[in-house]
Amino acid sequence: MKTNLLDFDLDGLVAWCQALGEKKFRAVQLFRWIHQRGVADFSQMTDLAKSLRDTLQLLAEVRTLPVVSRHDSADGTIKWMFDVGQGNAIETVFIPETDRGTLCISSQAGCAVGCTFCATGAQGFSRNLSTAEIIAQLWFAERTLRQERGVDERVISNVVMMGMGEPLQNYAALVPALKTMLDDHGYGLSRRRVTVSTSGVVPMMERLGHDCPVALAVSLHAPSDALRNELVPLNIKYPLAELMQACRDYLAHAPRDFITFEYCMLDGVNDSDVHAQALVNLVRPAHTEALPCKFNLIPFNPYPASGLLRSPPERVKAFAALLSEAGIVTTIRKTRGDDIAAACGQLAGDIQDRTDVSGRRAKTIRIHA
Ligand code: SAH
Ligand code: SF4
Repeated sequence: MKTNLLDFDLDGLVAWCQALGEKKFRAVQLFRWIHQRGVADFSQMTDLAKSLRDTLQLLAEVRTLPVVSRHDSADGTIKWMFDVGQGNAIETVFIPETDRGTLCISSQAGCAVGCTFCATGAQGFSRNLSTAEIIAQLWFAERTLRQERGVDERVISNVVMMGMGEPLQNYAALVPALKTMLDDHGYGLSRRRVTVSTSGVVPMMERLGHDCPVALAVSLHAPSDALRNELVPLNIKYPLAELMQACRDYLAHAPRDFITFEYCMLDGVNDSDVHAQALVNLVRPAHTEALPCKFNLIPFNPYPASGLLRSPPERVKAFAALLSEAGIVTTIRKTRGDDIAAACGQLAGDIQDRTDVSGRRAKTIRIHA
């Protein structure tokens, strides 16, 4: 199979080109064609020598992911489902706002963490995505949106690694993808506009701080180990004390001077005033400096068979007020794209090969959400 050039960050592409006897600046040109201009066809890369274009044609390709489906929400949100082979699909969501366009990207097919409130977790883990499969989501969405809008300038200004999967459990593939997003010859996104969301893979938080310090969101969901062990089973391995320390350490490298905590509001589970007060105590311990942070409350997005309910709006507001009164900046996430099951925690597309009654192999597509 040909080498997929989407698998490389700029350093990787330079090394690959050098092995072909090409100079570094050729790799830079190629990288710009691919990521800045969204060009996949080498024959269109007019400032590359004909001989190089021919070699590329022979050895390499820019291979994006096949689209299974696309849904457009009434609020402008777009959800794509991509086929990643062997019955697995992943989802990518574009969320337009007045001052920005955010792309929510998947890092794995399924997820091994198994949070009790998450449709992806309920689906189980299939496999890690490659760097190419991660960056292809951005490459494809940016190119498609530009074409549809008839513009040359950037449409996607922000990326959040908040789709399917736990990005820090796919670290090796994640980092080159992040570097491509940040690279001035790639997408040129600032570190503050690229956010990795994690359920708390403590050792990898530390590595990310050194290797590629982008904005960090931590999925907290509970103020105590007892409750968090149930909701986010990874907490058994990396309990809250370690997680809080990892957040503090990350701040030394972070592009922002705070950590964002995400908190999914589950009716009667983690949404009482007592929980809110416990959260305040967690991030402002009595004899230690407060942890600079913001809270982002996400009203639970139900999916079939979760057995959980969304906290009522008044409860979410009261919870937010308690945190705010304690001096912690708190926002309530607006649900976007819920008419197309594109909201947080609803991504769980899969493609299943099924044999229908007549015995024919039929590829059917199912979205549980
Ligand atoms: N695996 C990473 C990133 C993907 S999930 C993580 O867990 O951080 C992005 C956010 O959506 C996380 O904060 C996650 O906890 C939250 N989430 C998951 N399922 C949800 C649901 N059903 N309703 C609301 N938020 C949910
Ligand atoms: Fe995985 Fe994040 Fe879902 Fe938890 S919330 S199961 S870590 S994708």
